[in-house]
Amino acid sequence: MQTTVLQNKLFVREIREPVIGFMGTSRNPKAVEKRAKIEKALASLGITSAGALLCRYPKGKEDRTQLVPLKDFRFGAPICTIARVIAHDSHSFISKQTGKPVLKIYIEDETARAVLVCHNRPWLKNNLLLGEEYLIYGDFSFEFGEIQSDNFDFDVKIGYVPILPVYSLTKNLRMEDFRILIKRVLDKYLPVIADEIPHSIREKYHLLTKAEALKGIHFPETLKELEKATKTLMYEELFYLEMIVGKRAQAKKAVRRTEGEQKAADGGVNNRGLQQALRERLPFALTAGQEAAIVDINADMDSPFPMGRLLQGDVGSGKTLVAFFAALKAVENGAQAALLAPTELLARQHADNAAALLAPLGVNVAFLTGTVKAKGRRQLLKNLASGAIDIVVGTHALFSHDVAYRSLRLVVIDEQHRFGVTQRQAILAKGATSDDNGAPCPPDLLMMSATPIPRTLAITVFGDLDVSVIKDMPLGRKPIITHLALESNEDNVYEFVRARLRAGEQAYFVYPLIEESILDLKDAVSMADRLDLEVFPEYTVALTHSKVGDEEKRATMEAFRRRDINILVATSVVEVGVDVPNATCMVIEHAERFGLSALHQLRGRVGRGSAQSYCFLVYSDKYTEDAKTRLLVMKYNTDGFVIAEEDLKLRGPGQIAGVEQSGYLRLGLADPVENVAILEKARSDAFAILEADPALLLPDHRCVAEVLERAPPFTDMGI
Ligand code: ADP
Ligand code: MG
Repeated sequence: MQTTVLQNKLFVREIREPVIGFMGTSRNPKAVEKRAKIEKALASLGITSAGALLCRYPKGKEDRTQLVPLKDFRFGAPICTIARVIAHDSHSFISKQTGKPVLKIYIEDETARAVLVCHNRPWLKNNLLLGEEYLIYGDFSFEFGEIQSDNFDFDVKIGYVPILPVYSLTKNLRMEDFRILIKRVLDKYLPVIADEIPHSIREKYHLLTKAEALKGIHFPETLKELEKATKTLMYEELFYLEMIVGKRAQAKKAVRRTEGEQKAADGGVNNRGLQQALRERLPFALTAGQEAAIVDINADMDSPFPMGRLLQGDVGSGKTLVAFFAALKAVENGAQAALLAPTELLARQHADNAAALLAPLGVNVAFLTGTVKAKGRRQLLKNLASGAIDIVVGTHALFSHDVAYRSLRLVVIDEQHRFGVTQRQAILAKGATSDDNGAPCPPDLLMMSATPIPRTLAITVFGDLDVSVIKDMPLGRKPIITHLALESNEDNVYEFVRARLRAGEQAYFVYPLIEESILDLKDAVSMADRLDLEVFPEYTVALTHSKVGDEEKRATMEAFRRRDINILVATSVVEVGVDVPNATCMVIEHAERFGLSALHQLRGRVGRGSAQSYCFLVYSDKYTEDAKTRLLVMKYNTDGFVIAEEDLKLRGPGQIAGVEQSGYLRLGLADPVENVAILEKARSDAFAILEADPALLLPDHRCVAEVLERAPPFTDMGI
């Protein structure tokens, strides 16, 4: 047996004793009922064990370190004071609301006298006894000639506590009861709580032991102690987050496709040269960025380790084509590829493009979304299972439970920030095989995004991915010219657009709302009518938005692409990915209502051909400062990376798409976005440990191995 410092010690998450054991043993029916109520309320917060209780950290504190004499109270800020109860009065004050008498408790210290007004709390008489001194924490004000407080708290049961923890609880759980439970669990278990981070790291940053940190976070004696406890626990969370990322990267290198799989894949000799054939069919040359990305992807897909790669490139940089090359690689290798898109519209467009470009090479492309039904769907699923389909393009339907693939070797996720972790896992599961040791081996994964990924996400959620960036745009693209126009000048905009339509080009008009509403805003439905009948009677106008049926939406897009329609009126449904190179004008009305990333995506719908394109941001004079900043950022910037930075500044990192969906980032105490500096340290520590001691065998790393084995954190987050 290995002797470790952990002998006889428990990780806090291993303390499984039920909380009810800490609620007293009285058989008095009232007490029994109260215990049951507390137990139920705790369970609703996910707390059943004493260990889980300790992991519920306070969301704030009542600072009682500074005692303030009664006379020095200030309106608007709570004070903590020590005062003696001098009288109870239940007769002089009838509540207007309840018609019942309200208890007033008179208190005094050396400096003043004051009244505690106890609405609906007549029993306080029994807690605040005549002649006794209490520590009282409350908001005081001067009313009716008295110093009063009707919002106060006092210590009786836990005695004087300088800094009182404040927890976020449910309505049926009293703060006082919760505090007492925490205190009792701490008293019993503190001596046996094991450390979770290596000793050497604790020394390096002067962190507390786990037991000290738990005591310090719940019941600190000083603000300094609270600060140290917070720092320790934050570091610990982020350390394990990164440890798990590091382990995942390690695990990825540990699985390899079996030789059989790899051979089967190489069997598609007839298909060799598909990539070359596509290259020859293209009417244009690939950009350097596209070429480099394809080289990266090919190398990954040739290796026996599963690919995990993120392809970043601004809107219009030609990521889809790179995805097609990757898909062809899978087909060349005798396997299948799935291309997942967030919307029906986008999936359809990719499927059409894939069919046009790839079918002539003898590759079988299919389209699968929720709208493909009945017989068509059955046949399609059969062909997927038999391998008759090489490449399937679709939405979430691609990972419905009844969809099976013969050999799904590549998964491409377009606009990856629109998908959550579980969805990513669901599609990957469709192609998982077993390696020689029976461990699951996922298919190759290519994720695509135009949204630059903040550093925080790059090293957590995406911490195990390789990255390719397309920095250049296809040759001959002219930067889009962006004009700001006040709503009252919209006629000038319309006239400008008319000139482009006359030249055979097409235009989008985008509105913030589908239909008329009480908000005084233009909407897509009414404006489609107006543009059609009044403004552009000589041109064809069509309308699309999220309430239109999928079939109609598809037909409209198709007609727009065929140029049967000159003007497409829409809501932000055209935001993602829509690609019609002949469209050169993007008019966004009420542009002040759109966020930066939406504006950038919308503008990216034009400028996709060689003609000069224009974006008009039409705004009403009712805009906020932020809206003004957004419009100016759009006017003076075309680079998506710059715009994303500005977006980050305006909205704060928490709001950026991808962060909320990721689920990884909801920890107990640390916020990986806010605490990115600690996150970086934790990452380099965790990775250094794994590098030096991959199996975590050194005595100082033993605790890490044991935490991961016995009580891994974040297990409920799907990591
Ligand atoms: P995004 O990166 O925004 O997804 P797309 O893949 O939709 O961009 O590509 C935008 C447009 O550019 C498409 O019409 C595509 O056919 C075209 N395109 C892609 N690569 C090139 C290239 N190398 N030269 C010219 N046009 C290209
Ligand atoms: Mg795209």
